[in-house]
Amino acid sequence: MRGLMWVVLSVCFGSGVAWAENPKTIEVWRNLFTLSHGEGVNSNSTFLITKEGVVVVDTRVNPAEARKVKEAIRRQTELPILYAINTHYHGDHTFGNQVFRDSHNIVAHENVRKALEFEAGKEHLEVFKSLKIPGMEETVVTPPNILFRDKMDIYAGEYHLELIHVKGHTDGDLFIYIEALKTLITGDLIQNKRIPYMGDAYIEEWIKSINYMGDLDAEIYIPGHGDPGGKPVLIAMKHYLIELRRMVENQIKKGSSLKETQDAVRPKLKAKYSNWDKLEWLDGNIERAYREFSLK
Ligand SMILES: [Zn+2]
Repeated sequence: MRGLMWVVLSVCFGSGVAWAENPKTIEVWRNLFTLSHGEGVNSNSTFLITKEGVVVVDTRVNPAEARKVKEAIRRQTELPILYAINTHYHGDHTFGNQVFRDSHNIVAHENVRKALEFEAGKEHLEVFKSLKIPGMEETVVTPPNILFRDKMDIYAGEYHLELIHVKGHTDGDLFIYIEALKTLITGDLIQNKRIPYMGDAYIEEWIKSINYMGDLDAEIYIPGHGDPGGKPVLIAMKHYLIELRRMVENQIKKGSSLKETQDAVRPKLKAKYSNWDKLEWLDGNIERAYREFSLK
């Protein structure tokens, strides 16, 4: 199923996508950096420099892109890389893992490993190869080797990172809370000005997860895609999900078919979120919501 869902993506990335553009490195706080806004599959990668070494969160879409992360780290420090953490299994966050294999500490929720090992991982890589992203051929699927279920604490140098599992964007999401920095690294649970991919999402759980994240004492939210920002970034994502749920549920109550629901809801969301990226994913989002809320 996962493979099928991702096929939808291939329609969205044409061969005309420019790949030459390099991501910019944003210094979010002292010692905390995010690589953001590379062209194409522009997933963020974040790194924290501690006294003992570096913690990397998400490894981008392939080894070439992951090496850009490593180069950005090396421009700041020669300290060793202690951990690479995957916020979820999607290839644009995990297919650079092999570049960080030397740390021997690739950490994720246990469902991330399930989605990346054996045939499932190979299928997921095939989907990304079909997107014609330069450098995919070099990719060797490298699942995480340190797994947890609900929560994991990592003490690295002077920092305490809380890795907390929630469900929403996938069934294996985690976000990282660094209380001392009042910072959340959210993975794709939060994306800044971008319609999220929902091929394997759980929308009701997702809203609950964002509420939980919003209750934590934080000022900075580093999303899976787009610029880091303050609480408005979290609120905008939550509102999008609530709007999607409300509009689709209204149609279900009226007895509308999926197509009728898409035709009614798509223009409203398109108008409201006209400045967001990936509007072409709205129909997929509406379909996912329709299937989830029809079951209620
Ligand atoms: Zn994702």
